[in-house]
Amino acid sequence: MQESIERAVDQFRALLEEQLARVQRMERAEAAKDFAGMDRITIGVIGGDGIGPAIVAQARRVLESLLKDELALGRVTLKQIDGLTLENRLALGKSVPDDVLAAIKGCDVLLKGPTTTPKGGTMESANVTLRRELDLYANVRPVRVPEAGIDWVFYRENTEGEYVLGSRGVEVPGRLAMDFKVTTQPGTRRIARAAFEYAKNNGKTRVSIVTKANIMKKTDGNFSAICHEVAADYPGIEADDWYIDIMAANLVNPAIRNQFQVFVLPNLYGDIITDEAAQIQGGVGTAGSANIGDRYAMFEAIHGSAPRMIEEGLGDYANPASILRATELLLRHIAMAKPAERLAKALEICCETERAVVVTGDRSGATCREFTDYLLQNLDQI
Ligand code: NAD
Repeated sequence: MQESIERAVDQFRALLEEQLARVQRMERAEAAKDFAGMDRITIGVIGGDGIGPAIVAQARRVLESLLKDELALGRVTLKQIDGLTLENRLALGKSVPDDVLAAIKGCDVLLKGPTTTPKGGTMESANVTLRRELDLYANVRPVRVPEAGIDWVFYRENTEGEYVLGSRGVEVPGRLAMDFKVTTQPGTRRIARAAFEYAKNNGKTRVSIVTKANIMKKTDGNFSAICHEVAADYPGIEADDWYIDIMAANLVNPAIRNQFQVFVLPNLYGDIITDEAAQIQGGVGTAGSANIGDRYAMFEAIHGSAPRMIEEGLGDYANPASILRATELLLRHIAMAKPAERLAKALEICCETERAVVVTGDRSGATCREFTDYLLQNLDQI
């Protein structure tokens, strides 16, 4: 057993040094890319696994329609990137194969289908790898239910917390296992800054900081304290503290939930609570998600690859609304506000007001292609 302890201590030392090196890299970070000033933008398009290729193909059709002129002029290029499939990743033993990562790094932004993560084993989630490799530190997830007065935007820290070392815990075999959670100063500062900047630029007056700082005193305690330091630079915006357990309850409490506006929270809590929020909006098939860094950004559906739908032969019946909302976020990110607005309007008509073609996720509803045909018809009139 002594040998296991020594091995674990050596491993911990190496992890600490590695994380401190990451802190130094963050401290040297360059300014964020300004898309408004760029004359060429490359959008990488990745199908992923399960229902991913089916819904991403539809999102690509929508992008081709919305950006017809920009594509013709060469101002925007759509670059299909293959190889981020479970089969290829398992065959190569890499969560993101080297050639795929190189192709991705040749793009400015990505529209990505969900990728399956094998249970157990040591294969890291492709998303965790991409968030780390591309330093996509802000996971931004908007959730709106206008009839209930809900207009939330979640800023989930995306590169540290429980995930950064999630595949690299220590074990004394047969006795105990320990995983690590990491909160860094610059990592927290930049997600807090992103949340408060969003609030400032969008007329929001409240940012809710959600942690479990009463229990996770070091990591969540620092997360909360750093968020408050950042909040001091935004005098018109109220910063309030909540624990994740009561916030999970608040989101389903109609008496108070419509008072929340912007949330900032560590990785794991953000992961869980944004699925809850998406369910309140109408299901995980309805919400988009942005992973934003200073240099790259990746836009996805909030849901996974839905392998059960594929097993049941229902892949074509997957709802593309979630990846289309991600497409809207992508367009806003690359400073294409007009096409983003057109898409938002078409989604509102097709998913909320008119609903002439409805996707149910099974054979009782439309296919993702039929829904997209309907959306494209509406787009033509906006
Ligand atoms: P899931 O989100 O893939 O699916 C859960 C259920 O939600 C499905 O069975 C289906 O009934 C429904 N659903 C999901 N998307 C839908 C859509 N577009 N239209 C209609 N119904 C939809 O969750 P899971 O089964 O927990 O995860 C499956 C795999 O996806 C796992 O390997 C997981 O790691 C991975 N995953 C990937 C991402 C990502 O790449 N961003 C995110 C979450 C999960």
